Amino acid sequence: MSNRIVYSIIVPLYNEELVIDESYRRLKKVMDSVKEDYEIIFVNDGSKDKTREKVEEMCESDKKIKLINFSRNFGQQAAITAGMDLSQGDAVVVIDADLQDPPEVIFRMIKKWKEGYEVIHGKRIKRDGETFFKRFTAKIFYRILKSITTIDIPLDTGDFKLIDRKVCNSMISISEKNRYVRGLVSWVGYKQICVEFERKDRFAGESKYSLQKMFKLAFDGIASFSYKPLAIAGYLGSLSFFTGVISIFVTIVKNMFNQSKTIDFSIIISMNLIMFGITLGCIGIIGQYIGRIFDESKGRPTYIIDSTENYAHIKKREVQQ
Ligand code: UDP
Ligand code: MG
Repeated sequence: MSNRIVYSIIVPLYNEELVIDESYRRLKKVMDSVKEDYEIIFVNDGSKDKTREKVEEMCESDKKIKLINFSRNFGQQAAITAGMDLSQGDAVVVIDADLQDPPEVIFRMIKKWKEGYEVIHGKRIKRDGETFFKRFTAKIFYRILKSITTIDIPLDTGDFKLIDRKVCNSMISISEKNRYVRGLVSWVGYKQICVEFERKDRFAGESKYSLQKMFKLAFDGIASFSYKPLAIAGYLGSLSFFTGVISIFVTIVKNMFNQSKTIDFSIIISMNLIMFGITLGCIGIIGQYIGRIFDESKGRPTYIIDSTENYAHIKKREVQQ
């Protein structure tokens, strides 16, 4: 084995004490059998359980394991970004810790990489053990995203993928704050292909994605790659204007033939509620974009590193983003 690191495996971790041992065992088994040098980068995204202590122990006994500890929870996308920033491999694999993405699929990804592909997406053809709500919303979301964006994000792919060093370097050069990694990987281009796999049930524990986090990620995806939601305000404005014009016309005609001038207030109240709903909804959409512009303008880092393990050659200050 040469000393050059060929593969960097990035694993974001948030309160994964129940899965981390098994995750490490399976990943190590796969990577040891590849017979080329590798590093496994665990990014501890501000876990409050024993995840940090467990990985620190692993780092003691296995120098191929690296640990990045965030100062707090910055989210999975920030954790993946930090892993990429501090990766050294010629190929970089991003995989969830909970074994929903089977580590054995990495063999097939490596095969495609050696054939010359530079981005190998893991495409889910089946999702075991996830709730109907999660499968349904994911299916709808990916299809909406595809229809309103101009970049080609393959359907049913998540963050499980292998990317070549030059793709990783392109990702590192993107300074966007609210990052939607799976979209950016498609956006940077290069030679891309999918490998299909069956997504398994979580090995242990619960999903770390609350509804709020899921919504934030979904809107990061949409706002990063499409202006179409902003155009909706314009369409709804026109629709409302023409409905108003037609309604005035109908009222005038009705009044010409009908002498009774009774006003039905319930219709007026309903119309007002609908109009307020549309107006505030549009302001909400605009707000999502303005919030993201605000984040960019503040220029705060995507993440803050508290400490690292087994990064002997990197001083702590140098890894602050
Ligand atoms: N994760 C993270 N930070 C978070 C939420 C999740 O690093 O704020 C990690 C988590 O530990 C796991 C991966 O991201 O390795 C995917 O999370 P999860 O399995 O909970 O998401 P789901 O599969 O339910 O969408
Ligand atoms: Mg999961």
